[in-house]
Amino acid sequence: MDHATLTALRSALRMSPDNAELTGVVLQALADANDSAGAVLVIDAANSKVWKNSDAALLASRALLKDGQAERAIDIAPDTPEGALAKVRALHSVDRTDEARELYSATIADSAAFEDVELESDLKSTVPMVVKLRADGPRLRVIANDDTGADDLNTLLEPQEDSVAFKDVGGLTNVKKQIRKRIILPFQKPSLFQKFKKKLGGGILMYGPPGCGKTLLARATAGECDAEFFNIAISDVLDMYIGESERKLRALFDRARSRTPSVLFFDEIEALGGRRGNQREATSARIVSQFLAELDGFSQDNKGVLILGATNVPWSVDPAFRRPGRFDRVLFVPPPDFEARVEILHIQLADRPISDAIDAAVLAKRTSGFSGADLENLVETAADLAIEQALETGVESPIDQNMLLEALLEVRPTTTEWLTTARNYARYANEGGQYDEVLDFLKEHGKR
Ligand code: ADP
Repeated sequence: MDHATLTALRSALRMSPDNAELTGVVLQALADANDSAGAVLVIDAANSKVWKNSDAALLASRALLKDGQAERAIDIAPDTPEGALAKVRALHSVDRTDEARELYSATIADSAAFEDVELESDLKSTVPMVVKLRADGPRLRVIANDDTGADDLNTLLEPQEDSVAFKDVGGLTNVKKQIRKRIILPFQKPSLFQKFKKKLGGGILMYGPPGCGKTLLARATAGECDAEFFNIAISDVLDMYIGESERKLRALFDRARSRTPSVLFFDEIEALGGRRGNQREATSARIVSQFLAELDGFSQDNKGVLILGATNVPWSVDPAFRRPGRFDRVLFVPPPDFEARVEILHIQLADRPISDAIDAAVLAKRTSGFSGADLENLVETAADLAIEQALETGVESPIDQNMLLEALLEVRPTTTEWLTTARNYARYANEGGQYDEVLDFLKEHGKR
């Protein structure tokens, strides 16, 4: 606003000090011009009735705080979320930080769209932060290309994510049943199994399209047994210097043995043993034999350590891995069917603000071919829409069916390509019926 207009408006305001809208316009122009002293003159001259208008009151509160009149800013701030934040700032400036913090938390709890991380960190930085270590133990991640020994594995520990259980995994009833029967029970009741001369040891290899819950299941298995979870990506082990991979692998197995009960989960199993012609072949062969020796060791004495493996490309896995005592049980983790999709949608929507009118069955019907990760992506996209809307309108509404339907236009299923490839292996390279489960799945779901 140019100077002449502002002067004209200010004289108009002097004629009608009750005009709340005009007060707001003038205060906004003064705020734009960074003229808080000028704003205070306007505020002093205004009739107190105008502060019933929340826009004018908000601008007045901000101007007063800028001018160093925090107490007046507190009194004048309107009863809106933005007004509350102005009040929080004013309270904080006069060291009434506890009140400020309380008001801030209450405001954000009602309308999270007004969250202001900068203000929040200002409020926090005035008190010493108490760093609380999490009680649920560490997670192991192997980092490439270093020359650390077993002792240094500690430095690779990351805080573990929250524990999950089978109830957090949608669908996959059969796979859960097999895991329970084949590895959790023998683990919980070893004497019973010994009595009946059941062999212990050996792991389960899960295969299937990406994003359908293999890693989640492994983590949930650890949760079910109250065991520590070690998640190891084979490619990370392989990327190390020659000689280092073997040492690290050994250290990993030792660590798992010393931290029982534990679940050792090897992802990307196919990377071990790699394809012929790979330049890392010689190194790779040594690692494979060491890996197998470690697994064989477990078949003699696997006290307290469960071994799980996963791959998206089972046809590239070295058959030596499937011998007895190794990954002798192989399970297909299929894309979720209709019921499983309903369950996964409920799991993914839980703990988010959602409307009562969400119909998961309608969504499940329209998401054939979606993996669990695709469904998670769908819900995330809908959550983005809800956040966007809250920021635009200042009114917070929960995720509703329309947002999910809109998200459906953006998210595409990702399992089809995998199923096409798997179908060929299942048809033409189904040695020992190893892909029978895939064939059954395709038969049932009409992909021939
Ligand atoms: P994979 O190991 O098979 O590639 P993940 O287990 O890593 O897939 O799945 C990725 C994410 O997708 C999970 O963290 C979870 O949020 C979601 N997800 C996948 N499958 C399921 C499922 N069956 N139930 C609930 N969430 C799932």
